Amino acid sequence: MTRAELQAAITGRVLEPGDDAYDAARAVWNAMIDRRPRVIVQCADAADVATAVRFAGEHDLEVGVRCGGHGIVGHAVADGGLMIDLRPMGAVAVDPVERRARVQGGALLGALDRAAQAHGLATTAGNVSHTGVGGLTLGGGMGWLARQHGLSCDNVISFEVVTAEGETLRVDAASHPDLFWALRGGGGNFGVVTEFEFALHPEPGRVISAEFRYPVAEAGAPMRRWRDASDAAPRQATWTAAIVEQVVSLGLVWVGDPDDGADVISRLADELGEAAEPDARVVEPMSYLQLQTREDDIEGHAWRRYWKGHYFSELHDDVIDALLARDDAYVPNVSLQAYGGAIADVLDGATAFSRRDAAFEFVAAARWQDPAEDQDRIAAARRCAGTMDRFANGAYVNVLGDDGDRGIRLAYSEEKLARLTDVKDAYDPGNLFHLNQNIRPSTAR
Ligand SMILES: Cc1cc2nc3c(=O)[nH]c(=O)nc-3n(C[C@H](O)[C@H](O)[C@H](O)COP(=O)(O)OP(=O)(O)OC[C@H]3O[C@@H](n4cnc5c(N)ncnc54)[C@H](O)[C@@H]3O)c2cc1C
Repeated sequence: MTRAELQAAITGRVLEPGDDAYDAARAVWNAMIDRRPRVIVQCADAADVATAVRFAGEHDLEVGVRCGGHGIVGHAVADGGLMIDLRPMGAVAVDPVERRARVQGGALLGALDRAAQAHGLATTAGNVSHTGVGGLTLGGGMGWLARQHGLSCDNVISFEVVTAEGETLRVDAASHPDLFWALRGGGGNFGVVTEFEFALHPEPGRVISAEFRYPVAEAGAPMRRWRDASDAAPRQATWTAAIVEQVVSLGLVWVGDPDDGADVISRLADELGEAAEPDARVVEPMSYLQLQTREDDIEGHAWRRYWKGHYFSELHDDVIDALLARDDAYVPNVSLQAYGGAIADVLDGATAFSRRDAAFEFVAAARWQDPAEDQDRIAAARRCAGTMDRFANGAYVNVLGDDGDRGIRLAYSEEKLARLTDVKDAYDPGNLFHLNQNIRPSTAR
């Protein structure tokens, strides 16, 4: 099949180097990624995806799959290969009676949040609205509703998937249950998801964000109090902390009844105040949609980016001390977000997503503009995360970077990896979908 034949066979658009829209189409969130696919197929529907998959197979092209383009290592952009660009498939249809959303495989979180909210509904989605539903959900999907309703992947009722053979399958608990299990946490290894069907929940309306800020040198005692108070946190509260340069913010995000939230925040303020008075308190009521977009600018495109993450099953005093040791040049920003609640209610074996016993997710994230700083910034982020290695209990697959097989073993136990390999053998034995955090088929192990 030639380019003209491929274009004639699809509803969407084929792009190649030299085409006007080509450079914009290959750009992703992390400005460090500068790869040049031989062909970009902007797919309009599942049939286009199936045609693109078959074309890649026939021409022996590596396949990258792009939804929101937020994968940190840019796997979506196949250098010299074929990029399946799902962005034209960004629609969301809500059934308010059944409380379900049908979400196309290229949709962004903001489209899902807005469409559900129009009916007073919501489901777990991540914290930045320009992230893709595709990559986020297939790896797990952590967000402010997760402690109440589970991860994004826990809310998926069914998937429509185009396999490596170019076949379109409807996948749910009864139909292809092995694939249904693997798609909830196993990433983009098993096919291209062209539609997600999500369960929706009553939308929370008003939410509250609370932050208490300390200079890093004075944050040790309040941070221990903040950690201790997290044990009794109701599910509506997600404990969060951030260290930006030399300022530590300790707090929570409350999604639920505002009066109950105000009580929880006031108790936390008292606890922290007994340890040390903060330099600043920022308690902001806002709408759920405001919460879901408030980091959109700070987490915007066109920056060079690098990050490393860990899960912690406990925040020992030693972890806190290590977090607060900030004397390195180019030290990255650090964040902590609490897990638990409904995330931990799901049995570990029920989905491919792993490490449900995590208490906190840690991310050390660097952003900068000048390519001359690349090596220093990356090295500093690695050093910062490296000091936390010995406390870590695995890592979130969606936060893995250039970690290869070691990363896969951080994300999944041996048992999970064996089961994921069986599913890979069944649905993609030739490893067509390998530009991802790759579960290799047994023949390639
Ligand atoms: C600013 C920012 C905020 C974030 N916030 C959160 C958060 O709050 N919670 C959280 O859990 N994670 C969060 N993440 C991590 C995020 O889940 C991952 O970066 C994820 O890979 C992004 O998915 P994407 O579709 O945007 O990226 P892409 O780069 O488009 O996709 C990443 C990979 O996912 C696969 N993929 C994507 N869509 C499909 C599909 N439809 N079918 C098959 N495979 C597919 C492909 O393998 C692709 O390489 C955040 C990331 C960023 C950059």
